[in-house]
Amino acid sequence: MTVFSIESVIDEFETTTKNAGHHQRETLRQILEQNGKAEYLQSLGLGGRTDPESYKACVPLVTHSDLEPYIQRIADGDSSPILTGKPIPAISLSSGTTQGKRKYLPFTEELVQSTMQIYRTSFAFRNREYPIGDGKALQFIYGSKQFKTKGGLTATTATTNVYMSEQFKCTMKDIQSQCASPDEVIFGPDYQQSLYCHLLCGLIYSDEVQFIFSTFAHSLVHSFRIFEKVWEEICTDIRVGVLSSRITVPSIREAVSKILVPNPSLADSIYNKCVGLSNWYGVIPALWPNAKYVYGIMTGSMEPYLKTLRHYAGNLPLMSADYGSSEGWIGANVNPSLPPELATFVVLPNIGYFEFIPLEKPQMQELEISPSSIHYVEAEPIGLTDVEVGKEYEVVISNFAGLYRYRLGDVVKVTGFHNCAPELQFICRRSLMLSINIDKNTEKDLQLSVEEAAKLLAEEKIQVVDFTSHADTLTDPGHYVIFWELSSDSSDEILQSCCNCLDLSFADAGYVSSRKVSAIGPLELRIVRKGTFNMILDHYVGLGGVLSQFKVPRCISQSNNKVLQILCKNVTSCYFSTAYEK
Ligand code: AMP
Repeated sequence: MTVFSIESVIDEFETTTKNAGHHQRETLRQILEQNGKAEYLQSLGLGGRTDPESYKACVPLVTHSDLEPYIQRIADGDSSPILTGKPIPAISLSSGTTQGKRKYLPFTEELVQSTMQIYRTSFAFRNREYPIGDGKALQFIYGSKQFKTKGGLTATTATTNVYMSEQFKCTMKDIQSQCASPDEVIFGPDYQQSLYCHLLCGLIYSDEVQFIFSTFAHSLVHSFRIFEKVWEEICTDIRVGVLSSRITVPSIREAVSKILVPNPSLADSIYNKCVGLSNWYGVIPALWPNAKYVYGIMTGSMEPYLKTLRHYAGNLPLMSADYGSSEGWIGANVNPSLPPELATFVVLPNIGYFEFIPLEKPQMQELEISPSSIHYVEAEPIGLTDVEVGKEYEVVISNFAGLYRYRLGDVVKVTGFHNCAPELQFICRRSLMLSINIDKNTEKDLQLSVEEAAKLLAEEKIQVVDFTSHADTLTDPGHYVIFWELSSDSSDEILQSCCNCLDLSFADAGYVSSRKVSAIGPLELRIVRKGTFNMILDHYVGLGGVLSQFKVPRCISQSNNKVLQILCKNVTSCYFSTAYEK
């Protein structure tokens, strides 16, 4: 076992970021040397050159669809060097919530290494400010279904590939983050049973739990919403020492039964704490008195859950986790005390070669001539150390997984530098857009509009539990449809004003001008039944997704008809905006 030293991890990070430019050239050289004989690189005529200039001149920028045929061949069992020099040992499946279709991505040993590097780095900074003791972590993590591709490779979510790796357990031990639940719970075949047992195991070890974690904030909020429903049953299990009959998976029953012994005093204490809470405010510190913080990705599409998470977390700090994707890691959060809304990520210059496509908002006249897929005016990609503070970029990644000049599709803003490595703020995904004609709205625009309109519900203490949208082009003219699930019913009058407010809050010039001339019809707000968004979650988990990696798709395309059907079948009322009526 390695001995974890906070100081040496921080020192290493400081040295690496001071020499960011050098590490970038060196990382690119290693990537190209290791994979130089791969068919993809061979075809581009690099001829063994490994410098950034030749790389940029010979290798085109790509998106996933450009690489799909190559990855498909790997999945089908062609073990010749296609994208990488070494054979690819496994396939990762992206969450697929964006387009409704899951992407195949190469998974390699180097991705495990960079995951561990990111975990250690951010842990070192976190622990310097909020030291945890020896103990456990209540981690809402899940392995997803695995299947074999035609060629016999394991295909599963990227997080599952990581959790299954040897190194994961060692690193978790090093950074005092061992999960309170046994593996059988993490890898159980039924996520609802696993979630129940995570809560139960977390409570059995309640005095030892040092922090609460899930990959994304959505699953933290989801877990505590479920806790509100099952807490009495959990208390009974702890009181009598027998697992509820709702747990039917034999492996989970066996593993959890081993640690469940009758403990009436713990059950009483949990029971009394729960009944003493006001609307579940502060449930986390009440039940886990030694927890130091709540941890998970809370930025980007997770921001809408912060309010509810803060409610459950009471006085405990919320700490936003690192920035990465199934394609590879990008940056670590080394300023853990910043609130999630301000979280930034320092790019690690030795885990990949990074480029940044400068993005500018188009002027009105450019808007009118640009095709609707273009939301920004782009310039040539620039290197990691050349980015400018205050500007927005799309991230391009090249790494050991055989992704070369791969457009990640994320928009980030540079907020500063840590030594010579940029600090990025996550802005939004590029592709998630509401667009009918010249209007263009990202998930961030949608989020801001929903936040604005939801203020009108706040007086009644009603919350928007979740939301999504759809650009309905089957009507003439097309119009935006916003779906809301609410925590309780509201009046028609208030919802009508919310609908108008939503319509007015889309401030994009293309939208406003189209609305004024009725080139886009009145925005429609549809209220869906409680539990509808859980059905969407079930739908994705059924397809092989995983609760902890789940992101609610914020814009449902016409082609994603399963999800659209779930939403439409559960509509209880709808409102059309009157905001632009003359
Ligand atoms: P997946 O493909 O399921 O692995 O999801 C990766 C995507 O999740 C990234 O491309 C981002 O859009 C988003 N994401 C990952 N980490 C963060 C973060 N720290 N903040 C905001 N969004 C993130």
